[in-house]
Amino acid sequence: MTGAARLIRNCSVERTLAIVSDTWTFLVLREFYLGAHRFDQIQKVLGVPRSTLSNRLGWLVDADVIVRIPDPNRSNRHEYRLTARGRDLYLVMLSLLRFGDRHLHGGAPVPLRLTHQPCGHEFQPETACSACGENIVATDVRYRDGPGAGFSPAPPQTQRRRRGEPGAFERNRPSSVSRALEIIADRWTFLILRELFLGYRRYEQFSAHLGVSSAILAARLSRLTTRGIIDRTKYQDLPERFEYRLTTIGRDLYLPLIQMLHWGDTWLGQPAPMILTHQACRQDFSPRIVCSCCRAAIAPQDVRYTLGYSLPDSSRLIPEKIKVKSSSPKALAKLESNPVEPTIGSSRRRRATR
Ligand SMILES: [Zn+2]
Ligand SMILES: [Zn+2]
Ligand SMILES: [Zn+2]
Repeated sequence: MTGAARLIRNCSVERTLAIVSDTWTFLVLREFYLGAHRFDQIQKVLGVPRSTLSNRLGWLVDADVIVRIPDPNRSNRHEYRLTARGRDLYLVMLSLLRFGDRHLHGGAPVPLRLTHQPCGHEFQPETACSACGENIVATDVRYRDGPGAGFSPAPPQTQRRRRGEPGAFERNRPSSVSRALEIIADRWTFLILRELFLGYRRYEQFSAHLGVSSAILAARLSRLTTRGIIDRTKYQDLPERFEYRLTTIGRDLYLPLIQMLHWGDTWLGQPAPMILTHQACRQDFSPRIVCSCCRAAIAPQDVRYTLGYSLPDSSRLIPEKIKVKSSSPKALAKLESNPVEPTIGSSRRRRATR
């Protein structure tokens, strides 16, 4: 080993994102929020290889997001329950869902309709200020360093590469959360977005702060532009220089990001790196997810779902371009080693139903 460890900014969002951004972990977790408790239930819906599922369940247990308990109805069997920390992570999912519903469905009906049991109405999860109760908009929040601000050595870079294929997160369930995560789960994309939210706009700033290669930076900026999250304007002619700004849609990503910040601050045992102030009421706040109808804070057990789609017609719901024809043992082994590959279950299921 040579050279000093690279330092990265302490960030509760990044720590939280590390938990939800592994595709399989996310998909498994989502089944828990939809009411699953058992290995076989989850395995059947996701068509996930058993070894992969064991691995991710173990990982979620280690992260204290779920707990493994004896099955009350079947001796010698186990099931899983969400912990308080896991239930709280649901609020992060709701804020991602809200973003996806609002911006990533092109006007089509949303995949999942939510009913708030206490008031009995369909609702949208909204992000409100814990101090004054009003809805939060990104432009109305200021931040300052908290007790945990600073930089820590970067963890060793993992070799695993995410495949940013559209639909990788969707897997049998069209999902607004998935679509939102597809945008921010890529680590570099997330870091660029964070720079933008911190107020930086220029290529040279991103490049200097993140130590990212110019090829990666250019590719991520171009993708964010294509997706309508940022736009690019020229600020100098000779030489040509551009700056990047969040669009209205991009600014809305702030809501799931501060929800992750809050979750990370609450559960990950580190002092908060950043403190948020709501300009409208001039108070420090944490983001609350509330019912758009009755304004009460949402608790996971209070939400019922209506699916806007049917299960398990995987062939229709998985986009054409990510299906595979081959499922040779070698291909499967390769897929198994790449958890983001979305195709194993679909080909197996199609075979099984023949
Ligand atoms: Zn209501
Ligand atoms: Zn407020
Ligand atoms: Zn309500």
